[in-house]
Amino acid sequence: LLVLGLESSADDTCAAVVSSDRRLLSNVVLKQSAIHESFGGIHPMHAQEAHQANMPVAIERALAEAGVSLGDLDAVAATRGPGMYGCLSVCLGAAKALAAATGKPLIGVHHMQAHALTPFLTAAPMTSSPAPEFPFLTLLLSGGHTLLLLARSPSSFRILASTADESIGASLDKASRDLGVPWALGAGSPGAALERFAFPRGATSPALSPAEAHGTAPPTLAMPFARELAFSYAGQRSALTRLLRAEPAEGMRAERKEQVARAFMEAAFEQVAAKVELGMTRLRGEGEDEVKGLVVAGGVAANLVLRERLRSRLDMLGRPDLPLIFPPPHLCTDNAAMIAWVGLHRLERGLVDPLTVMQRAKWPITECEADFLDV
Ligand code: ATP
Ligand code: FE
Repeated sequence: LLVLGLESSADDTCAAVVSSDRRLLSNVVLKQSAIHESFGGIHPMHAQEAHQANMPVAIERALAEAGVSLGDLDAVAATRGPGMYGCLSVCLGAAKALAAATGKPLIGVHHMQAHALTPFLTAAPMTSSPAPEFPFLTLLLSGGHTLLLLARSPSSFRILASTADESIGASLDKASRDLGVPWALGAGSPGAALERFAFPRGATSPALSPAEAHGTAPPTLAMPFARELAFSYAGQRSALTRLLRAEPAEGMRAERKEQVARAFMEAAFEQVAAKVELGMTRLRGEGEDEVKGLVVAGGVAANLVLRERLRSRLDMLGRPDLPLIFPPPHLCTDNAAMIAWVGLHRLERGLVDPLTVMQRAKWPITECEADFLDV
């Protein structure tokens, strides 16, 4: 089976063709980062306009690269939500038009479910991405979400923790901007730019000593809600704002800036590792079945430092055996291959949508409903 997937829930315009035997025939991602850098963030109207201009180009290219025509497709899938309402209308509207014109089934996909199930598409034994086994813990770390979930099946997710204020991705993006890190350093995403800036010599390189960073100690960023599962990133952001008031980014030496960026990222990831530990303890206390792995997905999962820190935390907890599964970095950030993939498996289950289906800007993952076949 072949499905065309479309995605435009945030700032990337994506189209991809995926087969049921897990081949990515094409995976087109058109970035809008230049537009958003000039606004210092995603502006809903400009993002929607850019999607409107780019979606036909992405579709044309995805079909051409895959070497297929509309007639070869078995269904058209698009992100239905959650995301920015106007942006969602572009991919879902395009999918509806294609489905209506070709008579193929339409499938409206839950974006976060697609992030969570990406490891089934990219599973490769003996790599950092083997196929997960249910039940597993899932961290969805992205621009709009910070979730710790218990995945019981492809469509059944229990939310163990979400953020009490802003998302980890938004927090990293703002820190990157406040420190004046150029987006270009991260191939278009401020979070990736912050990673390159804070860890220019890789995840395991030692931190700069205060002497190297010109006599100033690294900022201490307190862990919020130490005994609770909820995430919180507002506190470490205010700490950064206070620090930058005392030491403005423009006048800061490069070494000091690197030290501050690094402390910010380490604190963000230490919190993630602490919540995983707390979540595992909580589930055990409730007599839940032992989890069979930890899947990390969403844009922030592209971060190599995070991968390293989570692995060492699991080892420290006496769980070096527990699979820690990350999709390859380019499939952690938004893409349409993951949308086509969920589309395929819903198609196999007959879970298709009427052409009148509407986008859902807010759509909890606990209501994603779709079912999914074993791989
Ligand atoms: P959501 O999936 O919640 O709707 P989104 O689709 O906008 O949000 P994603 O593309 O899944 O988000 O993730 C984007 C986020 O990931 C941004 O905050 C971006 O800065 C961050 N990100 C991407 N690469 C990295 C990286 N290497 N390190 C840290 N953060 C990163
Ligand atoms: Fe996303």
